[in-house]
Parts: sequence; C-alpha cells; structure tokens
Amino acid sequence: MKAELLTKLLAKSPSFEMSSGRNHNAITPEDINHMLGIKKLNRKEYNFLLMKYLDNDDSKSSLFDDLYEDTYQLFYKTELPEEKGLIRKFLNSAIVEVVTERCFFCNGTGVIKTLASINKCNHCDNGIFLYDDKVRCEMTGFPHNVFIKYKETYLEIIDMINRLENSARSKIGDY
Ligand SMILES: [Zn+2]
Repeated sequence: MKAELLTKLLAKSPSFEMSSGRNHNAITPEDINHMLGIKKLNRKEYNFLLMKYLDNDDSKSSLFDDLYEDTYQLFYKTELPEEKGLIRKFLNSAIVEVVTERCFFCNGTGVIKTLASINKCNHCDNGIFLYDDKVRCEMTGFPHNVFIKYKETYLEIIDMINRLENSARSKIGDY
C-alpha cells in the first residue's frame, strides 16, 4: 500500500520531475512534503498520511495532539470518563486500529503454517486483522465492563479517523 500510494503521488505531481532531476530514484522527505502540500491537505490529513504510509513518528505525535481535542469533545457530548488516562488510551488504540490493518499473527497471509499443517488464521479475514472488543480491551488496558461503558464513543473515534483517512486519500486521488 505504501508503494502504491507514493506512486500515485509521484505520478500526479507535475513538479516532481523538476525537483528530482538530480537522481531519478531518490525521493526525499522534501519531495513528499511538497507533493502533499500541493494537494491542499489540511494538517490532520497530511499527518495522517505521513504517519500511516511513511511511519513518521513526528506526524504521529502531532496528529495525536490534534485528535485529542476532537476526542475529548466526543466524550464531553455524552460523558467524560472518571477512569484516569482513558481518553488518551482510547485514542491511541483507535489510531492503531485504523493504521494497522495487516494481521500480525499471520503477517497478513491469512494462514498459519506449521511444519505439519496449514490452517486458516483465526485472528483475521484474509490477512486483515479483526479488531474485536477483547482485542480492544487488551489494547486500551481496561477491563471489559469499562470498555463497554464507553464503547459507543470508541466507535465514534474510529469513525472520525476513518473519515479523516477517506478525505485525505480522496484529495490525493487514491480513491
Ligand atoms: Zn491472520
């Protein structure tokens, strides 16, 4: 996915050829910044793409800070949690859920191979990891009863990040 996305960015950026004249194979962070810049992405969309497809840690912390306020507002609408750190942990888990699609048990292959057998992986659907409430409890570090209490809001956070991704990808022509 990372490679596909970058290929699209490169193909649709007329300025790229000029800036890369020195070496056709070298894509610098400056090139990418420039390409994302001319797509009129807002800061959150920009940071989302850099975080998800280029594993950029600065973008991740910047996005987290920006989304924290939005996440706080989602809780504020219904009920602010008493549990310490819950908003941060929910947001962090939701970001991981949207960004990490590939199953880490089978490496995205959808099957678990041993010397004796090949079995369908129980944790995913053809390599796309299935995030259920049990996994979410483990990721957030809260017991099931606490997670369930705020599950609606958790799903709203997921939805918010999904919308951010859709909007970012449609601006760069990825949909
Ligand atoms: Zn799997």
